[in-house]
Amino acid sequence: MRILVVDDDEVDFLLIERFLNRAFASDKPDVSWISDPGDASLQKEINGHDICLVDQNMGAFSGIDIIRNSNGHGSFTPIILLTGEDNHEVDRQAAEIGATDYLVKNELTATLLNRSIRFSLAQMQNQKKLSEYAYTDGLTGLANRIRFDQTLELAIGTSERAATYLALFLIDLDDFKIINDTYGHPAGDHVLQTVASRMSSMVRKTDIVARLGGDEFGVVLNGYKHEQDIKLLTRKMLRVFEDPIQFGDQSFHCKCSLGIAILNPEHPDRSASGLTRAADGALYKAKSNGKNSFAFFDEEIGVLLTKAAETENALANAITNEELELFFQPKVRAYNQQICGAEALLRWNRKNAEPIGPSDFIPIAERSLCIREIGQWVFEETCRHMRAWMDAGIAIVPISVNVSPIQIQTEGFVKHVKRTLRAYRIDPKMIEFEITETALVQQFNHLEKQLKALADIGCKWAIDDFGVGYSSLSRLKDIPVSKIKLDRSFVQQIETSAASRKICNVVSLLANELDLVLVAEGVEKKSQFETLMLLAKDEMQGFYFSKPLPNREFTSLLSEAEIQYLPASV
Ligand code: C2E
Ligand code: MG
Ligand code: MG
Repeated sequence: MRILVVDDDEVDFLLIERFLNRAFASDKPDVSWISDPGDASLQKEINGHDICLVDQNMGAFSGIDIIRNSNGHGSFTPIILLTGEDNHEVDRQAAEIGATDYLVKNELTATLLNRSIRFSLAQMQNQKKLSEYAYTDGLTGLANRIRFDQTLELAIGTSERAATYLALFLIDLDDFKIINDTYGHPAGDHVLQTVASRMSSMVRKTDIVARLGGDEFGVVLNGYKHEQDIKLLTRKMLRVFEDPIQFGDQSFHCKCSLGIAILNPEHPDRSASGLTRAADGALYKAKSNGKNSFAFFDEEIGVLLTKAAETENALANAITNEELELFFQPKVRAYNQQICGAEALLRWNRKNAEPIGPSDFIPIAERSLCIREIGQWVFEETCRHMRAWMDAGIAIVPISVNVSPIQIQTEGFVKHVKRTLRAYRIDPKMIEFEITETALVQQFNHLEKQLKALADIGCKWAIDDFGVGYSSLSRLKDIPVSKIKLDRSFVQQIETSAASRKICNVVSLLANELDLVLVAEGVEKKSQFETLMLLAKDEMQGFYFSKPLPNREFTSLLSEAEIQYLPASV
């Protein structure tokens, strides 16, 4: 055992050394001494020893300061504080700043030292384990996001001092969800572990590989003299995914999307957040290029990121600037083509800018979380219109409102819905929420409570864009949904693709079997409508019947329609 004693008094040191030799008589310790606490290599020496004993009173230096400084450097060498006299205040401070024990010099015995050192070592060992736990991903043993962020900051500093290149890789596995959902979590876990260990073996010891979340990984490559070296590593990284991953009898061909941002020694923005944003932008580009590809951050992505930031800002102010509007698209009952409901669809009338549709701005609102306020606005506006129709004596139909999973998970979502329904005196049965199949599948555990709570008061739930999100069929019977909306991509190919026709057929049978109403979305042509009729669709929606209409037009359509039922009296 290597023990360091920091004490400015030689007589005291010799005494302590004697006790130490007696305390560990069978396994003689290697004791070193530092008499000058101002020694520049003090911290290095502390780190190089198994345990350290420090005197409290050393002229201008105190033992407490040394311990505080050492812990501040993240050292895991346990330090025992020694004092000349028993002092309650020093004892308290020592405990507070992380000394592993506090001993009074004139009470020292070999037995006491032996026990104190053993306990200190064990205590530090536990602390080390706990801290590793907090910074490590339990499944793969890689660094977790917290450690990754810290290391990235440090690496950026180092690359600047050493004038070297640094690269940040963000890696997202393609279709990992399918493996997880189809073959179960043990298979998914095995894939993640294999990818983690293959990636770790590709990089140098000084580089860092981390698991940042579900199927997302991050790699920081540091200390490269040439940009070209990093480009070569990109190919190496993609090779991680070349060989299939074996799990039992199964063989998985897992691929990835890779976004890369390189920081050259002269780059002016040296912030970790700037670099992460750049790599994220590159990853986004890689994904939009199709699966299994990579992209480097470049000027074009920079322009896109700036544009996205501007859009995000403008969207955050869209409600106060009164730029949002609801359109309504009728749904019809298939057999008589009469209106039986409508979907509220959000429009953003952005001033002085190119028009942008909800498929593009909703994801931005989700990323920046302003979907929470926007979602509330959409629901209140829907209820406000419904109240206005009823007050004008117009028979109403159930209205569908699209909700984002982020909105549903926001605290107070259920309360807000209930409060709004009460305020506008709307029967909950006249509201139908639509959630996309993808969101439902990926986040069902976080949504279940809210779905049930609103289903309990009579609101309906519909699964939107059904057929593209890999629903686990076994789950469909357990969730409180009453409708599925077949994705329009199938409907639109119903005449040209035998596969689409079969899917339409199967989903129709499935809905029938599970007692769910089936809505066919995106019906554009008479011929599609007629083909669908053969499959006995319950409800249909699409440009063939009506485009989404502004409120005024929809109101007149409602007032002229022969609606067969009125809402329950409220
Ligand atoms: P969605 O919920 O699947 O809505 C149906 C989309 O299909 C609408 O696009 C509608 O205009 C379009 N559509 C309807 N019939 C046809 C057709 O016959 N042919 C074609 N080609 N398209 C048709 P829109 O309004 O652009 O909305 C796109 C998506 O944006 C919606 O898909 C929904 O996921 C989302 N969205 C719209 N409003 C909201 C909202 O208030 N909140 C949330 N969270 N999402 C919304
Ligand atoms: Mg919808
Ligand atoms: Mg849809």
